[in-house]
Amino acid sequence: MTSPKRQHYPPPGNAVALPPSPSRGEGVTLRTAADLVAAGLVDESRRAEIDAVAREFALAITPDMATLIDPADPADPIAAQFVPRAAELATAPEERADPIGDEAHSPVKGIVHRYPDRVLLKPLHVCPVYCRFCFRREVVGPGGEALTPSELAAALDYIRARPAIWEVIVTGGDPFMLAPRRLSSIVGALDGIAHLGVIRLHTRVPVADPGCVTADLVTALAAEKAVFVVIHANHPRELTPASRAACRRLIDAGIPVLSQTVLLKGVNDDAATLTALMRGLVAMRVKPYYLHHGDLARGTAQFRTTIEAGQAIQREMRFRVSGLCQPSYVLDLPGGDGKVPIGPSYLAPAGDGPFLVEDRDGIRRAYPPEGEIKN
Ligand code: SF4
Repeated sequence: MTSPKRQHYPPPGNAVALPPSPSRGEGVTLRTAADLVAAGLVDESRRAEIDAVAREFALAITPDMATLIDPADPADPIAAQFVPRAAELATAPEERADPIGDEAHSPVKGIVHRYPDRVLLKPLHVCPVYCRFCFRREVVGPGGEALTPSELAAALDYIRARPAIWEVIVTGGDPFMLAPRRLSSIVGALDGIAHLGVIRLHTRVPVADPGCVTADLVTALAAEKAVFVVIHANHPRELTPASRAACRRLIDAGIPVLSQTVLLKGVNDDAATLTALMRGLVAMRVKPYYLHHGDLARGTAQFRTTIEAGQAIQREMRFRVSGLCQPSYVLDLPGGDGKVPIGPSYLAPAGDGPFLVEDRDGIRRAYPPEGEIKN
């Protein structure tokens, strides 16, 4: 394994350079096919395949994630998320380089402004791991650009100049890959913008590299305004004692933590797995927020379910677990027209009569009550 030692991003005195971040846990982040072979995660016979994919899309697996992989299981749900496969080199006709239209909605570098009251702020493009289904896979990676200090200042000025912006979502890449000092200065700058109500940070670090959620990092998030953290977890095995402890450090500091999950074929596309994941999250005081339908990112067709399959899973979950455990099933419209809830409906059109509302046994009940119609 050839990866460098952990280093925050960007390194002191350099706003744009350098790959980041092997883990603070045991071992180092795996970044090449040779690393994966040496770690025993894949057979030597797959080296050329993985090299070919890694030339196109970034590769990184932290020690925390690598230890969860069972190399003997060809369908391992953790390996499926992080170990490259040749299928990624095939582009389906409907796939695109910018599946949710970030570029078309970027008025200045580092800002995506899709909705009137909120913007994305993307200070860097580095992540602790590189997910094989990533919707920003064309731009994330160790060579990905970060905002220079002047670009970051311009992005903050854009937010300052628009009182209609109420919420800023700091994403990337992964903002928790920033050195705490850098993160603190961004959170502080946002905290000083009077018209903002919420600072939200999206991160995979508490799951993929939980040792990185240090006291310094938690302190860097301190603000007068409401700060929310949204973690990304896709399988119950990702909720390790270390990731639970990382979330606990955030929550105990008064930071509400939510989660998002991507619906992934072969990883979590069944009600039992998603139920276990959502229960696990709620038990660690993390509220499931979104279940994303797979985006049309290049080379990710092998991960996408149909919307019908997603709805069937949600329908099954609806009556298995409480509302606390229910994320909203959403689709980001291709081209950047926004997020739309696409979960199943339990309400039949009313017409001139009463509404028909489906109960947990599939019986449609009139509301206001008049009678019953069996499916
Ligand atoms: S952590 Fe998020 S942004 Fe980074 S590769 Fe995974 S899905 Fe993409």
